[in-house]
Amino acid sequence: MKGPREPSDTIFALASGRGTAGIAVFRVSGPAARDTLESLGVTTLRPRLATRARLLASGTGSGVRPVLDDALVLWFPAPKSFTGEDVAELHVHGGRAVIDAVARALGAIPGLRPAEPGEFTRRAFEHGKLDLAQAEGLADLVAAETEAQRVQALEQFDGALSRRLEAWRAALIAILAQVEAALDFSDEDVPPDIVRDQLPDLVRIFENISQHLESAPIGEKVRDGFHVAILGAPNVGKSSLLNVLARRDVAIVSETKGTTRDIIEVHMNLKGIPVILADTAGLRDAAEAIEAEGVRRAEGRAAQADLRLTVFDARDWPERDAATERFGGEGSIAVLNKIDLLDHEKRNKVDVVLQSQKTTRYCGISALTGEGLDRLLAVIHDSLRQHLDTLGPAPLTRERHRRALSDAVEALRRAIESPDPVAALELLAEDLRLAARALGRVAGHVDVEDVLDRIFSQFCIGK
Ligand code: GDP
Repeated sequence: MKGPREPSDTIFALASGRGTAGIAVFRVSGPAARDTLESLGVTTLRPRLATRARLLASGTGSGVRPVLDDALVLWFPAPKSFTGEDVAELHVHGGRAVIDAVARALGAIPGLRPAEPGEFTRRAFEHGKLDLAQAEGLADLVAAETEAQRVQALEQFDGALSRRLEAWRAALIAILAQVEAALDFSDEDVPPDIVRDQLPDLVRIFENISQHLESAPIGEKVRDGFHVAILGAPNVGKSSLLNVLARRDVAIVSETKGTTRDIIEVHMNLKGIPVILADTAGLRDAAEAIEAEGVRRAEGRAAQADLRLTVFDARDWPERDAATERFGGEGSIAVLNKIDLLDHEKRNKVDVVLQSQKTTRYCGISALTGEGLDRLLAVIHDSLRQHLDTLGPAPLTRERHRRALSDAVEALRRAIESPDPVAALELLAEDLRLAARALGRVAGHVDVEDVLDRIFSQFCIGK
């Protein structure tokens, strides 16, 4: 791991959000943190205990120093702090003018500079307070919008993923140590069977990592959002459905034009599950115009979606738009819209369909009156919940993790599938080294060699 930057300068930043609030928190980290507090007139410091103090502006020469605020001060001497450096926290009143005055006072203290984005966490990483996967977990926790995201991010921040990968990595390094020993001392103490005995363990680790890799897409979806695509013929009410679903949900994150033209995306929090709801209206129109590219995109979008809402006009039932029907079946919910326009007899017919619920899930709704929407939301939630339930502990949450585990699996596959791994010890050692290094990348262990050095120094071969 990269060593701490020496000599380190001292950084400060507003750690709480902008905007009026009861309290605002400034964080100061670095060797000058203690002097900073003294410059602000805070002299009584008790480690990790809150101290009430008047923060003073710098003197004007007359001897009387104006009070900036009546604050709470926390003092975390190194190394027991978030960054591993001396850290001070100033809990001041949250008014804009207070924040500005304190920021000005901090900026005027020699040796202090405003922190760059992520710099506190970076310092924590560099001082070994958290590893790279935990730092990512922390970033996700700060960005978490839904309950599922909070739970997943907290787990990763807590080190669950790092611990799991580290256990596999340590096991691989232990095997590697045996292989290296067999290589170096094959004529002496180490019988070749020692390596052969390791093979079942190697296969077990390979299988565990492969299994973990398979669950990767769900962890990434929890982080980024589950894709739900609304598909249907023009005028069936796709946009109305998108709008009414989005409006019903108070925790909409954002509404953006999708990357593909004419796709409107709405990020929403569906009872704790992050969802990206997309209206593919334009794509369906493109299909009408028999634009091959448009059709391809519509199909791509539908195929990528974790769930498809195929929308039909309830008045046409049982006739169904064929182009929409193609997107039906597994992973889809058929939505019969505009039930408010049905006469009594038709309504009864549709109700029979809705109650049958054989292989396809049906929901009758009116995007106009809101009828049936609660049930539709419950059915969508249920369906996504099933994905979530497949999520094991310590999921992978980023492509970076997935790539690292794929590399490890590939290297281990080569090792295991070689006709006689024991006959090709050098290759086996190299593949084990590659696999261990790939796993280590996730936590940010750049150099595996130092671990090997340690292991080998304890390996008492020359007894
Ligand atoms: P899209 O082309 O599929 O996106 O359809 P729109 O959402 O633009 O809706 C087409 C028309 O149908 C609009 O005039 C909507 O007001 C109307 N509409 C949509 N849903 C309903 C519904 O449930 N009931 C009624 N009566 N009209 C609806």
